[in-house]
Amino acid sequence: MKKIAILILLLAIGSSWYMKQKPSTTDEPIDQLVLVNQKNPLNHVPTDLINLFEQQRSYDVFTSDITLSARVAEALEQMIQDASAQGLSHFIVMSGYRSFEQQQALYEEMGAAYAMKPGYSEHHTGLALDIGSTETTMDVAPEGKWIADNAWRYGFILRYPADKVAITGIEYEPWHLRFVGLPHSQQMFEQNLALEEYVAK
Ligand SMILES: [Zn+2]
Repeated sequence: MKKIAILILLLAIGSSWYMKQKPSTTDEPIDQLVLVNQKNPLNHVPTDLINLFEQQRSYDVFTSDITLSARVAEALEQMIQDASAQGLSHFIVMSGYRSFEQQQALYEEMGAAYAMKPGYSEHHTGLALDIGSTETTMDVAPEGKWIADNAWRYGFILRYPADKVAITGIEYEPWHLRFVGLPHSQQMFEQNLALEEYVAK
């Protein structure tokens, strides 16, 4: 009996030592409310990315290599199916997850006025995407109006609204959606809060 007790004790010490040695949180899903902006870089790579081109989907993709967090791709497909049922069927996903290397290339190509520095883009989370219309620009497309009114029902927010430029530091982007999940998206929509304001509350 004594030997067993000692063995159990050793196992307990060993496992607690192991837990302390474990590297941070890279295998865990990225927090849906994570704030990534000019002041808050992301030091974390999502592990649940799936390729949109390979999915059953109701929207176009700009390139065949766009990936998103699986839970976001699921919410997106549901949203576009419902929009299609209401006659809006010209959606195209232009961009999703971006690696630090991809953001670096974009930053070098577009410059600081149009692209965030690597580490500071929401696209690193796998929770953000740029969606457009195949017909026209999102600020005038019926798809853009529908997204602005309804995306919250599926856990999305328009991350950079026209009336929050002073808070987000980013110009109006009617195409950039961020997944935060329900009920957060509903509360932000109803109370007209940017993510910065919401997480500060
Ligand atoms: Zn974007």
